[in-house]
Amino acid sequence: MLELQEIRKDFPILAREVYDHPLVYLDNGATTQKPRSVIDAMTNEYLNVNANVHRGVHFLSQEATRIYEEARETVRAFIHAPSTAEIIFTRGTTESINLVAATFGEAFTQEGDEVIITGMEHHSNIVPWQLLQMRKGIVIKVCPITDEGRLNLDVLPTLFSPRTKLLACTHVSNVLGTVNPVADIIRLAHAHDVPVLIDGAQSVPHTTVDVQALDCDFFAFSGHKVYGPTGIGVLYGKRQWLDRMPPYMGGGEMIQKVTFERTTFNELPYKFEAGTPDYVAANGLARALDYVTAIGMSNIEAHERALTRYAREQMALIPGMHFYGSSDDAVISFNVAAGEAGRGASLIHHLDLGTLLDRLGIAVRTGHHCAEPLMHRLGIEGTVRASFALYNTKEEVDALVAGIDRVRKMF
Ligand code: PMP
Repeated sequence: MLELQEIRKDFPILAREVYDHPLVYLDNGATTQKPRSVIDAMTNEYLNVNANVHRGVHFLSQEATRIYEEARETVRAFIHAPSTAEIIFTRGTTESINLVAATFGEAFTQEGDEVIITGMEHHSNIVPWQLLQMRKGIVIKVCPITDEGRLNLDVLPTLFSPRTKLLACTHVSNVLGTVNPVADIIRLAHAHDVPVLIDGAQSVPHTTVDVQALDCDFFAFSGHKVYGPTGIGVLYGKRQWLDRMPPYMGGGEMIQKVTFERTTFNELPYKFEAGTPDYVAANGLARALDYVTAIGMSNIEAHERALTRYAREQMALIPGMHFYGSSDDAVISFNVAAGEAGRGASLIHHLDLGTLLDRLGIAVRTGHHCAEPLMHRLGIEGTVRASFALYNTKEEVDALVAGIDRVRKMF
C-alpha cells in the first residue's frame, strides 16, 4: 500500500484547483507531475553548480560533470544495463527512436530490407521508419492487432523474412494500455537473428524494466513520463550495435579529433551526444528515478493496476460506456454514448466529453493520441483517455466516474 496522502504532498501541483474544483490529474500518459525533490535538485544545480560539462578544468564544470555522469549511472542501474557506455541521453523517446532509425538504418539497411512494427505504435515509432523508407527504400511490415487490442501473435512469426533487419515494438500501448509480451517477441525475433527496439515510454513509469533480462537490443524512454523533467530521455543500446552505428548529429562532444580533412569520433556514449546536453535535466531524471526506486516499482505497479481495475469496474457501470483495448496497466481509453439510450446511441464526441470534464477539474486527454493508424483500425476518430500515476487515488477515480455520468446526462 502506498501512503498516498504523504506521497501527494511531494507533488505541489496536485494541490491546485481548476475552475474551483480540486485538480484531478489523469493525463499521466502524456506527462507526469514532478516531485519536489526533482524540482529542488534542478533549482539547486542552477543556483549553485551550473557550468558546462566535460570540457572544463574548473571546479564547477567538474562538479556538473560528476552530477551528469552519476545520473547516467543511476539510469544504467534503473534499467539494469551492463554499462554506462550503452546509456545515451537524448531529448526523449522520439529522439531515441529517430537516432536508431537514422543511424542503424544508415549502417544496416538497404533498399528492399524490412522493418517490422505493430498496429499499436505511437507515431514516434512509425514515422522515423517511414523517413528511412523515403531515404533508403526499406519496406515496413505491420503486425496487426486483435479485436481485443492485443498483438496478433499468430501473424507476427509470418512477417519475418531473410530481409528483416529490425523489429520495433511498443512495450505498453499508450492508447489501449495493452502490455505486450515483449520478452517472447524478442526471443522470437532473435531466433530469426533480428534485433529488437522496445519503445518503453509507457512501461518505464509503471513497471520494473531489466534490459538484460529482456535481452532487447535497444530501449527508449522519456524522462517526463516518469516524474522527471521534459527535454531528457534515454536510449539504451547494446554496444555491439552502437559501436557499428555512425554518429547521429555532428558537433562538439561527439568527436575525438577534428581537422578539415577528417574527424574521428568519440567513444560511447559520447559519440551520440553532440553538443551541450541538458545536464540539469539529466540530474532531474536521476532524482525522479531515485524517487520511484525509494517507493518501489513493484509497489507502484500494484497500486496502479488495482486503481486501473477499480476504474474499469466503476466505469463499466455507466450506461453507454465503450472501452477500447484491455487496460492491463494504467491506461483506459473510452467513449460514451449520449443520454440514457445506452449502446447503439451516437457517441459523445471525445473532445466534448474531455472539455466538459475539464470544467469539473478533471484532466484527461482526448483525440487520436498520436496513434492515427490504430484509430483507423478501431474505426474511430479518437477516444477519451484516463491514465494513472502513483499519486492517483480511488477518490479521483470516483470523481472521474461521477463526472462522466454527469456529462453523459447533458447530451
Ligand atoms: N511512444 C509512446 C508509446 C508514447 O506514449 C509517447 C508519448 N506519448 C512517445 C513514444 C513519445 O514520447 P516523447 O514525446 O516524450 O518523445
